[in-house]
Amino acid sequence: MRCRCGGEMHQASVDCLDRWGKDGPYVRVTGVPALVCERCGEQEFSEEVVIRLQKLVREGTDGALRFERLPVKGFPEALVRE
Ligand SMILES: [Zn+2]
Repeated sequence: MRCRCGGEMHQASVDCLDRWGKDGPYVRVTGVPALVCERCGEQEFSEEVVIRLQKLVREGTDGALRFERLPVKGFPEALVRE
């Protein structure tokens, strides 16, 4: 399978970081099967995978394998244009 950029897409397992809704906790899901473009890094998920992923994220932290603290950084203010 080919990506829009023309690169070859390979089967890989990736990490996804997502949250359910605006205030839900961020949930990192590891080992998600995806097709990844070798050139631009574009990731494609099958419909089945997307549904499973949404379900996992919607469950919030229930059944989490472990908890990780996420580092948070502020983007340099000087670069923010009004
Ligand atoms: Zn690509």
